[in-house]
Amino acid sequence: MLFDSLMGMFSVDMGIDLGTCNTLVCVRGEGIVLNEPSVVAVRKGTNQVLQNGNAVGLVAKEMLGKTPGSIAAVRPLKDGVIADFDITEAMLGYFIRKVHGGRGRLVRPRVVIAVPSGITAVEKRAVFGSAERAGARRVYLIEEPMAAGIGSNLPIAEARASMIVDIGGGTTEVAVMSLADVSVAESIRVAGDDMDEAIIAHMKRTYNLQIGPQTAEWLKIEIGSAAPLDQEVSVDVRGRDMISGLPRKTVVTSQEIRDALREPISHILDAVTHTLESCEPELAADLVDNGIHLCGGGALLRGLDEVISDGTGLTVKVVDDPLSCVARGTSVYLENLSEWKDTLDSDHHNL
Ligand code: ADP
Ligand code: MG
Repeated sequence: MLFDSLMGMFSVDMGIDLGTCNTLVCVRGEGIVLNEPSVVAVRKGTNQVLQNGNAVGLVAKEMLGKTPGSIAAVRPLKDGVIADFDITEAMLGYFIRKVHGGRGRLVRPRVVIAVPSGITAVEKRAVFGSAERAGARRVYLIEEPMAAGIGSNLPIAEARASMIVDIGGGTTEVAVMSLADVSVAESIRVAGDDMDEAIIAHMKRTYNLQIGPQTAEWLKIEIGSAAPLDQEVSVDVRGRDMISGLPRKTVVTSQEIRDALREPISHILDAVTHTLESCEPELAADLVDNGIHLCGGGALLRGLDEVISDGTGLTVKVVDDPLSCVARGTSVYLENLSEWKDTLDSDHHNL
């Protein structure tokens, strides 16, 4: 361990939030140094990564606009499961090399990676192996809700319960933690992407208007909500008429978008109540005072805290900077590796 700590002084140790939408990398002493979409550009119809694996993240997104014909965007973790191991490896390797290579250090890095609590042992091993092949000296995996709890300064190491609801792009992770361990957790494949899809379906059904996923996400962020707004608004939406096939625009209101979002939101609320029901009574009792903490990009949906609070009777708070708390958590974890060593080693054995 001492040797490892010494080596740590010369290497760029990093914490990675490997999200279904966005990957963030933190470096000890520097904070968040990389924040890019979890996207890889591949040759259309194949799983061949472009340009020796360099068409990843922002680069992949940029390329897409310019050569739409032959290139496709792949989100290898879209549903919180690794759809393609090779593409995931190319992506993780690219991010690790980008952060490490740019800093000119000789010693290989130690890497802490936050993974969704729902992923299988096989997938864990794949992430682990990918990071090793990308040049990591040691790899530690941490469950995403734990990292979120640490990153949001929740007292997760204490003998009282904290609850995290992390609403990402592909998955929502709900977990109750105490004594630095996850006590009950549920991971569902309903999150931000499903809200976008619900908006697309609504536009089709109501207006015969086809809109793309980016427009749907924009609508969600601009006027989307889970609870009534003080001032309801409306915006112009452009898309393609499904009957004539021609471009056209229409007006949609925030009430309509809220109605469209009702279904994915009810699934998220169900996961929260279900987790509360399977919680030990003593831990449940703690939550009466400690409440629920929301994080992930989906936590930014207006009024979601209110709806979850109404549905559970508990206080609900959105953590500070909900998009980066998992990454910040991995970095705190990294700084305290020696303290967490026991949990880490047992993590290793679980692989
Ligand atoms: P992941 O951890 O799965 O990569 P993130 O935590 O980065 O996901 O969150 C991405 C999701 O958050 C996307 O579905 C995005 O549309 C959504 N999102 C981001 N900002 C907002 C916002 N202001 N309101 C609602 N949803 C948002
Ligand atoms: Mg996440």
